[in-house]
Amino acid sequence: MFEKLRQAFSGVASAVREKRLSPEELDKVASDFEISLIESDVAQTVAEKLTQTVQKSLEGTRVDRSADPSEVVGERLAVTLESAFDKAGTVDLLQNISEKKRSGEPYSILFLGINGTGKTTTVAKFASYLKKNRVSVVCAAGDTHRPGAIEQLTEHADRLAVKIVSQRYGADPAAVGRDGILYAKAHHVDCLLIDSAGRMQTNQNLMEEMAKIVRVVKPDFRIFVADALTGNDAVSQAELFNRHVGFDGVILTKADADVRGGAALSIVYSTGKPVLFLGVGQGYDDLAPFDTKKFLDSLLK
Ligand code: GDP
Repeated sequence: MFEKLRQAFSGVASAVREKRLSPEELDKVASDFEISLIESDVAQTVAEKLTQTVQKSLEGTRVDRSADPSEVVGERLAVTLESAFDKAGTVDLLQNISEKKRSGEPYSILFLGINGTGKTTTVAKFASYLKKNRVSVVCAAGDTHRPGAIEQLTEHADRLAVKIVSQRYGADPAAVGRDGILYAKAHHVDCLLIDSAGRMQTNQNLMEEMAKIVRVVKPDFRIFVADALTGNDAVSQAELFNRHVGFDGVILTKADADVRGGAALSIVYSTGKPVLFLGVGQGYDDLAPFDTKKFLDSLLK
């Protein structure tokens, strides 16, 4: 995973090792760096900002030739990236759920994202993760638009022996979410997972529908699901949802096939929201907690 992005970082380190850092040279290194980032699927705007920050922090820096320059540059990069990931913070959903349970209320999580990113599969994986951690769970089939969406979630829920709340196609998804809350309260279920639609005639329709679910259901947490393989698209979708609906954390799917790692970096950098899990396959167990340290180490080493 993330091989290309790691190469982008080590490329900068070796370029610096060979040269003294005059402003012109730094410009050249920075521009090569920016291109490598873009080739690694880091969104253009993020690549530009990141490059500027690293370049600024290196301006006027004298690198002792006896020191290992790759370490000096590596440290600068690490500091810049670590501070972006630190600012985004981390979230312990199991702890949040257990705190809410103490107040006698179910914890509700709304899953947002465009069709095809792996949202429904991720809801199922997350239900399985919760069950394994002895958290009781119910799912609400909030995508009442896409043909087959309700059956798809029902099939997952049946396989996982998880209860599902659903209505007919065309029903108001906010009402489905509300039914889910009522069910969870009445049956003392710890956590409600709400699936949602990912495509409508216009983005505006979709954003309005999502905003309505949020208003009506008032979910405790909103997870944006993004496909790591879609690079720049994933970032513009994240920015759109973040602006119009808002979300609290991200799950990046298909990281098993992502050799570049650009989407994780770009989404955290551009939205300031943490990546919580990576989808690493199609099975229910293929959900890996995102390890920031491991991710940054794999980029920077
Ligand atoms: P939705 O339209 O967003 O609900 O997407 P689906 O949940 O139907 O998933 C679309 C496709 O992506 C399915 O074939 C899933 O099996 C696949 N998928 C979902 N998550 C992952 C993942 O983490 N890795 C891989 N390789 N495939 C995934």
